[in-house]
Amino acid sequence: MTGYVRREYPQWSWSFSRHQTLVGCERRYFYNYYGSHNGWEFRAAPEAALAYRLKKLSNLYLTLGDALHKSAYGMVERILEGRELPGADVVEEEIRRQLRRVWKSSRDDGDLFRRRPSRVDMLQEFYYQMEISEATLTKINERITLVSQALVASEVWDILAREDVSLVASEQFDTFFIEQTPVYAVPDLLYKSEDGQWTIVDWKTGEEVEDNEDQVALYALYVHEKHGVAPEQIRARLEYLSLGITKETSFTQEGLAEVEKRAKASMAQMRKLLLDPVQNIPRPKIDFALTDARAMCPWCNFYELCQQELGRIVS
Ligand code: SF4
Repeated sequence: MTGYVRREYPQWSWSFSRHQTLVGCERRYFYNYYGSHNGWEFRAAPEAALAYRLKKLSNLYLTLGDALHKSAYGMVERILEGRELPGADVVEEEIRRQLRRVWKSSRDDGDLFRRRPSRVDMLQEFYYQMEISEATLTKINERITLVSQALVASEVWDILAREDVSLVASEQFDTFFIEQTPVYAVPDLLYKSEDGQWTIVDWKTGEEVEDNEDQVALYALYVHEKHGVAPEQIRARLEYLSLGITKETSFTQEGLAEVEKRAKASMAQMRKLLLDPVQNIPRPKIDFALTDARAMCPWCNFYELCQQELGRIVS
């Protein structure tokens, strides 16, 4: 068993979500990847402790996504064990149960969350005392039903049950390297068939956005680099469960070279915000710009940390 090793600075790595955070707001990126580091320690500096707590916040849509992925993972396990799959009503109830649990802890365990943020699920909506409109609740409720039905109806289950198809990974955290930087890849599902075809599956509970295509393209690069699969033998299925749409993508050598080029450019952009790239020491917080898209700030986890500074800019 390996013990906890304290690090003064976080380890350098890259992921698609890290890139998305940076593009969204440099300050958010700072709090998420640097300012919250060691914030879990008993004697953490107050700002690091607060940043760590805020990093732990979820929201209704993310919680729905997590619950859906848990159910999907359970279905993969059932397929492997040769057990029958649950019906949509069972999956829907699993997801509702998970949301009810998170709703309850958010409503009742605020004090515990402030003391031990890693122990309690907390919705941003409750933490910031935001009003949850009837329209939002209706949308979430409808979405739970839609995604449960679409997940159970997915073609993937029949494919996975075939003799010539084998599972490679399901929600398995893995890394590969681009220029010595560890790159994280966690495809929802990865399987291969005897004809040499590898398929990445990504389930989405939200809207169709271009970033999703970029994310699965990075996973394709991971499959190519880590498993030595030719790009033409890799396919991605993006299943937009609430929309009832599945998008299939294939890849080429040139396409994956472009994905790698974009990842390198993103890493270079991140390194410009470091004082010391070897130890991954960030520049001072003030060098991480607040977003210009200020309208999104009240919905950001780190709003509590930025509120005063944003107020000074406005006044
Ligand atoms: S509150 Fe706004 S400025 Fe502050 S981290 Fe979040 S998005 Fe960035």
